[in-house]
Amino acid sequence: MTKTFLQIRGIRKVFGTVTAVKNVTMDVAEGEFMTFLGPSGSGKSTTLYVLAGFQDPTDGDILLNGQSLLSTPSHKRNIGMVFQRYTLFPHLSVGENVAFPLRIRRRPQAEIAERVKAALKLVRLEGFEDRMPGMMSGGQQQRVALARALVYNPPVLLMDEPLSALDKKLREEIQFEIRRIHQETGVTILYVTHDQEEALRLSDRIAVFSQGEIDQIGTGRELYANPATRFVAGFIGDSN
Ligand code: ADP
Ligand code: MG
Repeated sequence: MTKTFLQIRGIRKVFGTVTAVKNVTMDVAEGEFMTFLGPSGSGKSTTLYVLAGFQDPTDGDILLNGQSLLSTPSHKRNIGMVFQRYTLFPHLSVGENVAFPLRIRRRPQAEIAERVKAALKLVRLEGFEDRMPGMMSGGQQQRVALARALVYNPPVLLMDEPLSALDKKLREEIQFEIRRIHQETGVTILYVTHDQEEALRLSDRIAVFSQGEIDQIGTGRELYANPATRFVAGFIGDSN
């Protein structure tokens, strides 16, 4: 039996009069690819930000290997994150962008050079250290963001709609890369998307979000064959 790795327990998040997340509970196994699927405004990003430590939950807890993460500040949680829009530092080279998480951890220069090289190799951008982000395509920039998120081997990687700004062909190409990287590194991934096709293609399991709650968690096959609610049936069965 695999031991519980990441436990998300009764997360609620209120902003003034808006309840962004009502009650989110799930267990994620080590190495699992878990996708949060749901329409805009269903609380997917807020849940991810709570995990990343960008926001404190109103209620609930997050445990990694049995220990609460809530008192650990964001930069010490060892959780990598990739967002929808390229969030590279435009004034830093590709190599320095990827090196950034290692610099704030004060790693020695030799180790930084070696890890940056390996991370760029992982995303198939070997030798791109001296390029500037502004000179690269959107897809390449997202790969640099992925290399930066993975450079210190975090046990968990969070991705918030990382491909939604890309065109369809590029999206499919990078989906393939993400799958390969998941297999090669064994990193546990929590992935947010509103695209059911993408969720079915990438995930071990999918959590279907609706109005700040999870309607159902299961494999794509389970959700498709046995939807727990009309909402899940509509969302998974929908073709768009
Ligand atoms: P999703 O990522 O599924 O689109 P979000 O988690 O971004 O959903 O948002 C869920 C709800 O919470 C939405 O109604 C959104 O407007 C609201 N919300 C999110 N962040 C904030 C915030 N910082 N302040 C106020 N309301 C917010
Ligand atoms: Mg969102």
